Amino acid sequence: GSLLRTVDLRLAFGATQALAGVSVEIGPGELVALVGPSGSGKSTLLHCLAGILRPDSGSVWYRGVRLDDQSDDRRSRLRRTDFGFVFQFGSLVSDLTALENIAFPLRLAGVRRRVAEARAREWLHRLGVADVAGKQPGAMSGGQGQRVAVARALVTGPRVVFADEPTGALDSFNGELVMDELVGTAREQGTAVVLVTHDPRIAAYADREVVLRDGASASTEVSA
Ligand code: ADP
Ligand code: ADP
Repeated sequence: GSLLRTVDLRLAFGATQALAGVSVEIGPGELVALVGPSGSGKSTLLHCLAGILRPDSGSVWYRGVRLDDQSDDRRSRLRRTDFGFVFQFGSLVSDLTALENIAFPLRLAGVRRRVAEARAREWLHRLGVADVAGKQPGAMSGGQGQRVAVARALVTGPRVVFADEPTGALDSFNGELVMDELVGTAREQGTAVVLVTHDPRIAAYADREVVLRDGASASTEVSA
């Protein structure tokens, strides 16, 4: 069955029809890339899937429950418990250290500080960035920051990670290293990934590509 799906999503910003009837389905543990030209609606679709934006019409379903008509509070709570997020910039809280950033979602979930920090430390080692544990995001390189962001997104074992251009600010070498970590850890824990990218080499990490054009899902392709 599907983990997350949309039915005929439509959303306009003023005169711009960002989504013009998008139906997509994401299975448990599946890696799906949303691809298409700039302005085709990829980020808007990601935000609707994640319960951040509400569509004008159509519906979003998560584990058989309708998500789009729930209250802001319930959708926020669901984002904290079930979803993780990695963005191109600003995934991290700027005045917390790397260790504190990774521990933060665990603390919100009620995990005690010492346990949360021990788990955060394990993730820093796993992603090869133990040396930045005490640094704030401003003192890290782009690649280090995105590795910490990947750890922060995955540390709670979410069912879905939403990644919007997660490598967009990195060179291709660091971009591929970050994708290796994101995809590797997601597969290990059975986390589904919804990835927005305009880079075909990054999209190739996905099991399946959903191609958007002018706010409509033009086609679905299986990655090589
Ligand atoms: P993509 O991620 O594929 O580049 P977006 O989903 O960001 O596309 O945007 C789809 C369309 O909606 C674009 O025309 C964009 O300019 C417009 N749009 C997106 N967000 C907003 C917003 N908050 N206000 C006004 N227009 C927006
Ligand atoms: P609340 O609405 O209770 O303040 P948060 O803002 O903490 O909830 O949202 C939970 C998750 O959703 C966070 O991981 C955050 O990064 C993400 N998020 C919230 N709003 C946005 C947004 N406008 N764009 C991108 N991600 C967002």
